[in-house]
Amino acid sequence: MAASEASVEATFFGTSSVHVSDGTSGVLVDGFFSRPSLRRVAFGRIAPDLGRITSALSRARVRRLDGLLVAHSHYDHAMDAPEVVKHLGGKLFGSDSTLHVGRGSGLDEQAMTRIADGDEHTVGSFTVRVLGGLHSPGNRFPGVIEEPLVAPTRASSYRDGGCFSFLVSHPTGSMLIHPSANFVPNKFDGLDVDCLYLGIGALGAQSPRFQDDYWRHVVEATRPGLVVPIHWDNFFVALDQKLRPLPALLDKFARTKEFLGRKSAESGIPVRFQDAFEVIRPFVR
Ligand SMILES: [Zn+2]
Repeated sequence: MAASEASVEATFFGTSSVHVSDGTSGVLVDGFFSRPSLRRVAFGRIAPDLGRITSALSRARVRRLDGLLVAHSHYDHAMDAPEVVKHLGGKLFGSDSTLHVGRGSGLDEQAMTRIADGDEHTVGSFTVRVLGGLHSPGNRFPGVIEEPLVAPTRASSYRDGGCFSFLVSHPTGSMLIHPSANFVPNKFDGLDVDCLYLGIGALGAQSPRFQDDYWRHVVEATRPGLVVPIHWDNFFVALDQKLRPLPALLDKFARTKEFLGRKSAESGIPVRFQDAFEVIRPFVR
C-alpha cells in the first residue's frame, strides 16, 4: 500500500520543538519542555524538569522516537534533549557542543551522532538533511561547549555550538525546519518543500531590510505550500498554559505578525500559527 501524505502528522510544542511522525517512525526537533522561569534563567541554575518532559510527551502521545535533531546547543534547544532520548529511545543528533550536553547527562556514545552541514541521515522512514546556518542576531551565548555539561548549571553555559536547519523528507512530502531567524544568502535556493517551519524569534526587532531578505532567502527560496512560524512564544512560561508571545521588551511580535501577514498576502503563501499540542498534516494541502 502506498503511503498517503495524510499519514504524516506534526505536533508543535512551542520554541522550535516539533515532532513529526508517520505513525511508525518519529523525529523530534529539540524537544524543549522544561521552560524554566525568566528569573531562574537570569539568576539561577537550570536543569531538565523530568515531570514537565514526561507530561508533555504523554499528553502528545509520543511514545517512541527514531531521532532527536538539535538545532543548536542553547538551553532552549538542547537542555532537555538527552533526557527525552533516555525516555523515548532513538538517537541524539547534534553538534559537538550538543553531544557534550548528552555526555553530561550520561547518555551513551552509541545513542549520539555528530552532525555537520551537508550530512544526510536516514532516521526511520525519514531522510534528514543537515543545513548549517547562522544564529539570529543578538546571540547572547556564543561559542562552544568544550566539555561534558552537567546540569544544573547556568543558562550561559549552554553556548550555541553552531546552528542547523533540518530538511526532513518522507516518501509523501518534505519539510524544512528552520529554527533561528537568520539566513545564509542563497543557501536554500532550489529546495522546494511542502511545509516550512519558520523561526521568527526576535525578527520583529530587525530592520525592514533584514526582514525582507529573510523572507526572500528562506521562504521564497523554498517555495513552501505552508509556512508555520516557530520560536515566537514566551518560553519562560510552562507548556500547561496557552502559548503567548514573548513580552514586548524581548521581542516585537506585533511587528513580526504584521510583516508575515503582508508577505503572505503578496506571495500567496499561507502562514498559519500552530498551537502547542495541536496536530497538523503538513503535507496535505
Ligand atoms: Zn539560540
